[in-house]
Amino acid sequence: MKLTFLGTGTSTGVPSIGCECETCTSDDPRDKRLRVSVIIEHAGQTVLVDTSSDFRQQALRYGLKRLDAVLITHCHADHIFGLDDIRPLNFRYGALGLYANERAWPDIRRIFKYVFEPSHFGGGLPQIIPHTVYSLAPFCLGGGLRITPLEVIHGRLPVMAYRFNDFAYATDLSEIPAETLDAMQGLDVLVLDCLRFAEHPTHLWLDKALSYVERIRPRRAYFTHIAHDVKYQRDSPKLPAGVEWAYDGLVVTNAN
Ligand SMILES: [Zn+2]
Ligand SMILES: [Zn+2]
Ligand SMILES: [Zn+2]
Repeated sequence: MKLTFLGTGTSTGVPSIGCECETCTSDDPRDKRLRVSVIIEHAGQTVLVDTSSDFRQQALRYGLKRLDAVLITHCHADHIFGLDDIRPLNFRYGALGLYANERAWPDIRRIFKYVFEPSHFGGGLPQIIPHTVYSLAPFCLGGGLRITPLEVIHGRLPVMAYRFNDFAYATDLSEIPAETLDAMQGLDVLVLDCLRFAEHPTHLWLDKALSYVERIRPRRAYFTHIAHDVKYQRDSPKLPAGVEWAYDGLVVTNAN
């Protein structure tokens, strides 16, 4: 399994426009965060989680050649506004499976109405094959990649986290329901939302994220969806062994 962080920033990205704080003016590339997204590669499959508002830039930086599926966590702008930029992949390989929960689909159809109710011929629309995912209802891609959608709560919004064999990716959440905690046992790698140090109504903050890491007990944990409150090098000593701030371009692998 190979997981690549395409983006690890909160919804504004870091640096934040107009901000002159210590993180936003840092020269450390680990303090430059595009909007959150990851690529999972396993068993010949390449899966993208969220078409972030930075997707085009991320795909070019990563050297993305093809995708087998796109999974959506939820419909906030930072997670889906890059959907139009899957078109070059459609032109080469045809339609692409897009997986989202029942809550997200009406929003995807409304926001991208031109895709679902095209008003003119030509022009190159994204070509997607819609799939609805349900929490705790796993499916397989390519035979060797088992994906389990897991519901987490983002303020009051039910959002999808995804387990990929023994990796899990859970961004944009403030609560993890008991059934999802059960389904996250035995992880090698957990990627978890951790916005900042201070409390927040719709995201995890450091203390709460660490308390979930203690309950889930993955071998390794990486925090993402990070605001400019966190400066990578300055704030890395604040994390216990086995827990790290993720950064754009970080690759996490295991032999399974
Ligand atoms: Zn977000
Ligand atoms: Zn700043
Ligand atoms: Zn969100």
